[in-house]
Amino acid sequence: MDLKKVIREIPDFPKPGISFKDITTLLQDGEAFKHSVDLIVEDLKDKNVDIIVGPEARGFLMGTPVAYAMGVGFVPVRKPGKLPFETESYDYGLEYGTDTLQIHTDAIKPGQRVAIVDDLLATGGTMIAAAKLIEKLGGEVVSMQFLIELEDLNGREKISKYDVNSLIKY
Ligand code: IMP
Repeated sequence: MDLKKVIREIPDFPKPGISFKDITTLLQDGEAFKHSVDLIVEDLKDKNVDIIVGPEARGFLMGTPVAYAMGVGFVPVRKPGKLPFETESYDYGLEYGTDTLQIHTDAIKPGQRVAIVDDLLATGGTMIAAAKLIEKLGGEVVSMQFLIELEDLNGREKISKYDVNSLIKY
């Protein structure tokens, strides 16, 4: 199945010059959505994963069905001010300014084997932030899984010390 056919590309969104990869067209196609989740689950099956982490917001959409299919738990990584309990934070640089991601301090237990699932790998900044949060809590990042990888942005280089799998490459 050619998953690229069900990704919609939106030119100049959210800014001029960016070709946004819209995954809503994949999500609304039951066969493509199931196939994508199945491929990620298949790649993770021998990695002894204890728990899945998904970054806000599209990481929730891909991460939760993977966790359900594997029979493991799911942990959200969110923007500041969204998680109600005590949090650990990580600040990371963007092209202009900084961004912060947070995780509940009791979400990952020391020694747990964690796979991060997100919709798209661009520069890798989000993944580094999520990995740092997991590692601060004593978890081990055993895999990073993406529906889409934008190869020109070299995100894979930034996360080269991790196991990385992507289903669709541009
Ligand atoms: P990175 O941190 O630069 O790797 O950017 C990855 C994050 O940006 C992911 O969480 C994506 O949801 C989001 N993102 C960046 N570009 C796109 C796009 O074209 N489509 C959907 N999400 C995108």
